[in-house]
Amino acid sequence: MERGPAARTILSRKVVRTVAACCAATTAIDPHWRNWFALGGIPALTEPVIDEPFFPTTAILTSRGKTQLELHDRATHAAAEKFGRQVFLRGVVEVSNYCRENCSYCGMRRDNRDLARHRARLDQTAELLVHHRPRAITDVNIQAGEDPVVVRAVVVPLIKILRRQTPLGISVCLGTLSASFYAELKSSGASIYIIKFEVADPAFYARMAAPGSLDERLEHIHLLAATGWKVSSGFIACLPGQNHDALLANFALARKLPLAGCSVSPFIAGDETPLAREPMAGIDLTLNCMAAMRLMRPDWVIPAVSALNLAEPGWGYRRGLRTGANLVTINLTPPDLREDYLLYKRDRFIMTEERILSAIAAEGLRPSKQSLADYYRQNQTPKTESARPAIGLVTALNR
Ligand code: SAM
Repeated sequence: MERGPAARTILSRKVVRTVAACCAATTAIDPHWRNWFALGGIPALTEPVIDEPFFPTTAILTSRGKTQLELHDRATHAAAEKFGRQVFLRGVVEVSNYCRENCSYCGMRRDNRDLARHRARLDQTAELLVHHRPRAITDVNIQAGEDPVVVRAVVVPLIKILRRQTPLGISVCLGTLSASFYAELKSSGASIYIIKFEVADPAFYARMAAPGSLDERLEHIHLLAATGWKVSSGFIACLPGQNHDALLANFALARKLPLAGCSVSPFIAGDETPLAREPMAGIDLTLNCMAAMRLMRPDWVIPAVSALNLAEPGWGYRRGLRTGANLVTINLTPPDLREDYLLYKRDRFIMTEERILSAIAAEGLRPSKQSLADYYRQNQTPKTESARPAIGLVTALNR
């Protein structure tokens, strides 16, 4: 296929050495290098020799039309090359909407006094997951506001029950906790920790009143990875006031972290937050970020988050599956708690098993039979561009 210059910029470029550089190297090896020309050596000099890692640009993130379609197509192919046509299917159960944090973007923030707070009951949640979970799911994600009470009373014992009675891979998304909590959750049987860095700029992070400080959040990511967790992180795309450079900074940060997966969540203004009147993320920019993430790290597990359906009602999720996402989530939270587990709006679009399976089938994909946790176990520790010295980890111990 013929590609124009704009399209070419989105490709993971094969870099060729210049003839001059090659000649210089060749001379050093073979003083009779001029003979190479006579022997037809030149064509070899223009073959691709270095695979330059992909990094997005503003033009890529804002691409539309044919260039955008090609970007998404390449992302789909990159995922298929690495993972085949399979997507991981994970159930999510939200066990508490108590939260000690006060993030400006999140409806569960502690200053939201209008929210009825609940904690799930251990027996009911265990019954649901052990005996009544959808057949297709291989993993479960236990999620909550930042609520150490529910971690001790519900999450740890629930993980032990699931470990004993089911083959489910277990992820948790519980916020920034103490090192001893992390150790207890892990020894109980969880192996994947979802902890987003939310936004890469420390000042912006502080303005959003995101948990602790960005530095601390990153230390926790390093601590979790260094102690054997598979860590999935992520950022919120298009937070109010976030320009394209700030979006690109999210990619620059993500690629330095010791991650096994990474998500892009579109910003959806929560009704009961200080950002309630701000516009939500555009679906195209969000999808381009997802595709760029896939091209940057073909090996990462990248979810199609359910908020895509709020960014583009009815279609966002399907389009997300066309950008190289390879993990989907079925919401299993019982309806009474789900109503008040409020990240953004009350009318959030719930991805049921039926909706998910039909979206997967419609995109020519199929649910993985192997759990994500098993997949990680069988695959190597993710490589990072720069490992941080473990010395920074000590400050992460006391929350
Ligand atoms: N509190 C825990 C933590 O900090 O990891 C876990 C739960 S938190 C409610 C789950 C995620 O929801 C956050 O990491 C954030 O990225 C996302 N989130 C919250 N409000 C959002 C919004 N308005 N738009 C998009 N994502 C949002």
